[in-house]
Amino acid sequence: MGLILYKNEPYLDWSDLANVEAMRAALHEVSSHLGESYPLVIGGKRVETEDEIVSVNPANPSQVVGRVAAASEREADMALETATKAFESWSRTVPEARARVLLRAAAIMRRRKFEMLAWEVHEGGKPWAEADAQFAEAIDFLEYYAREMLRLKDGVEIYSVPGEESRYFYQPMGVGVIIAPWNFPTAILTGMSSAAIVAGNTIILKPSEFTSVLGAKTMEIFEEAGAPEGIVNFLPGYGSEIGDHLVKDARTRFISFTGSMKTGLRINELAASQIENQRWVKRVITEMGGKDAMIIDDSADLDAAAADIVASAYGYAGQKCSAASRAILHSDVHDEVLQKVVEKARALKIGVPESPDVNMGPVISEPQFEKVMSYIRLGKNEGERLLGDDPGDPERGYFVPPTLFEVKPDARVAREEIFGPVLSVIEARDFDDALRIANDNPYGLTGGVYSKNRDHLELARHELNAGNVYFNRKITGALVGVQPFGGFGMSGTDSKAGGPDYLPLHMLAKTVVERF
Ligand code: NAP
Repeated sequence: MGLILYKNEPYLDWSDLANVEAMRAALHEVSSHLGESYPLVIGGKRVETEDEIVSVNPANPSQVVGRVAAASEREADMALETATKAFESWSRTVPEARARVLLRAAAIMRRRKFEMLAWEVHEGGKPWAEADAQFAEAIDFLEYYAREMLRLKDGVEIYSVPGEESRYFYQPMGVGVIIAPWNFPTAILTGMSSAAIVAGNTIILKPSEFTSVLGAKTMEIFEEAGAPEGIVNFLPGYGSEIGDHLVKDARTRFISFTGSMKTGLRINELAASQIENQRWVKRVITEMGGKDAMIIDDSADLDAAAADIVASAYGYAGQKCSAASRAILHSDVHDEVLQKVVEKARALKIGVPESPDVNMGPVISEPQFEKVMSYIRLGKNEGERLLGDDPGDPERGYFVPPTLFEVKPDARVAREEIFGPVLSVIEARDFDDALRIANDNPYGLTGGVYSKNRDHLELARHELNAGNVYFNRKITGALVGVQPFGGFGMSGTDSKAGGPDYLPLHMLAKTVVERF
């Protein structure tokens, strides 16, 4: 199968008026489809449900983006049954044909790019550039995993002893339950799903309740790309209602989850107990939260550091697992960096992301708004608030202004994942102290160091406890194939999405030895 070399999908240039016009047209077109209904898709058939998820625009909660069917345990069973049957043929379909489905899906995503970005603006509350970056990542996952499957399709080289031939190759696992979060509603959903199916598995695809319409749109793309019926089964629903059922079922072979630590650990626990008729140890791939730190030492370029702290902390309103939620500043540069960060954060434009010049939109939902606000109330007691006004009425949009607290390292706002535009600034005596503070947390997802001191960078290269470490740049925006992504500690199983070790997590490796 001849394929051009992999390269990342370029981001749109918003200084090009043609792109701005295309985006405006897409927003207009999509707005005429708001409020439509989307059924489940099981074995290629549309299935209506009694219950429904009403998905709203977080920048304007009175606007219904779509009504999405909400599966119950009954439909979850149908999906498990269908995926189990479909596995028989899909697992025997040649890897090239499976890869072609991904490549076609990538082409369709490119064609539907502006439309999909417009849905993201409406349902995810994403500013244009953020929407574009996460959609480019979805395309990258498809292109990258298609190539990865072709690289791995005949197995990998091992040694043989004289008189024998040893072979080592991969085979599909079975039915996978794919459970996605809302913050990268097409990228993570597409990445987890495409890796699972290209490896020959069949899946049940459960999007987040808050971005179920984007889930339905992604499902449309898989169907248009020619994924045979029953390979991808679209099962939106409330995690609290169908999650346990899907995870516990004996037909489930593996669970690929991205979301909070709390849910991830529950899934891990439930998946570990064997139930009647279960014939395998379930595999759990779980990528969870973070409390990511940026260390700024006394040799750093302070302007660049401050700009990247602001970008990492407040991009998509801090709702990235990779977001900087702690800035650990060397005492010699503490005041200067702090002042620059506050200045730059004040310049951010907050508003409804339908406008092209908005830097920061709302948080995703009312529960998220309430959670972030409760941490802001806590932070006021734990330290000094140096940035952040009181928010407006959440009924008019879940907007939380960029907020910054100066706190001690043991403050809860500096230790727990808030998942909103709240940055904790901590002063460190020296670089070793900064490294110690950064590592003194159960999470270990991303982390960064701003420094011109080679010794400091080399120390952090090995000692900073994070799956993704960045030097002298922002700590968000991982690129598929370039910055494989996954966390240490309580941030997850370090699956490294978008990297060379990811696909084998979805397959069984088999050793076959023949004596001549
Ligand atoms: P969440 O509340 O844990 O939900 C994630 C998914 O799990 C949703 O689809 C949710 O469904 C489902 N779910 C809820 N309860 C479940 C249960 N008992 N069994 C099975 N599934 C269940 O997380 P979130 O708020 O969507 O996402 C934000 C979190 O994701 C943050 O902690 C963030 O750091 C993390 N995240 C991590 C990464 C990474 O790569 N490490 C990337 C992105 C996000 P409902 O929507 O219906 O509740």
